Amino acid sequence: MNSYQRPLTKLRVSLLDACNFGCVYCMPPSAAFLKKEDYLSADEIIRIVGNLVEYGVEEVRLTGGEPTLRSDLPVIVDKLGKLFLKKISITTNASRLLQFLPALAEGPCRSINISLDSLEPSNFKKITNHDGLGRVFDAIERARALGFKIKVNMVVMKGLNHHEIINFVRFAEREQIEVRFLEVMNIGVVRPHFGQWYYSGRDMLREIERQFTISSVDMPGDSTAQVFTTSKGGRIGLIASESMPFCASCSRLRLSSKGVLRACLMKEDGKNLRGVPREEYGPLLQEIAAMKPLTRIKEILEPMHQIGG
Ligand code: SAM
Ligand code: SF4
Repeated sequence: MNSYQRPLTKLRVSLLDACNFGCVYCMPPSAAFLKKEDYLSADEIIRIVGNLVEYGVEEVRLTGGEPTLRSDLPVIVDKLGKLFLKKISITTNASRLLQFLPALAEGPCRSINISLDSLEPSNFKKITNHDGLGRVFDAIERARALGFKIKVNMVVMKGLNHHEIINFVRFAEREQIEVRFLEVMNIGVVRPHFGQWYYSGRDMLREIERQFTISSVDMPGDSTAQVFTTSKGGRIGLIASESMPFCASCSRLRLSSKGVLRACLMKEDGKNLRGVPREEYGPLLQEIAAMKPLTRIKEILEPMHQIGG
């Protein structure tokens, strides 16, 4: 525990706000992205993360936008590897992952979360506005062969893909890959559709339990997921951020692609760390820690690709 009364050990680093997908729950149809020169450079990221490590950050997840749109992704990962972090991971839509895998396999990242909302090509296209399902499967297969720990994240939406939940549990069993079912969050472009798309974790679980015998797995106190195993050894997780929020035990900080550190996904305010000298981090972090809400904020206008998911 550090001086902020709760450990802030996990950091999400958004490498950019741009993406090659247009997921209906994340990307506004006419999204404008920052200019490339506005993104933190690899060296700026390493400097900031290096300073945050001194204040207790232990794990870094690279995200975006789509992190594989940054050609320096393996360089960033390798440099992070020198900061004595306990864990480095990446969240990606995986459509461009294959080309990075050989370089990443040589580096310190062993864990990749792949966002996959449909196993049906036409539904995949409808949700992501992209045709890349085949490439995602290829990347999953190759990443696994290279020894990466893979988790698949599915955002479940009523009327769009909730009919695929059972197929995803079967996928988890067949492929021996953990699938995590996420409640859609009331963020950005979701807001007008939230009532229509929201499908609760409880409903997901009820549906799964009708067809599978599942047992719960013990998880660390700051875990966002409830995890279960099926009788056939499939591992599934539930991330019910709307109905069962974990704000009081949240240990996450977020660094935006332009260098703003924020305390919470749902809070737009933060502190710009670009160019900030190391000696100023202490007081700045105290301010950030004080911004951490104890209860769930209901909604946020800012779209997810900008926040860094
Ligand atoms: N482009 C990468 C990807 O999709 O994995 C990384 C960035 S994306 C913003 C990170 C994660 O946020 C993805 O798993 C995505 O499904 C999730 N996400 C985005 N918008 C969301 C929303 N409104 N509710 C729940 N999850 C969301
Ligand atoms: Fe892109 Fe990820 Fe957002 Fe989908 S969820 S639009 S892949 S940033």
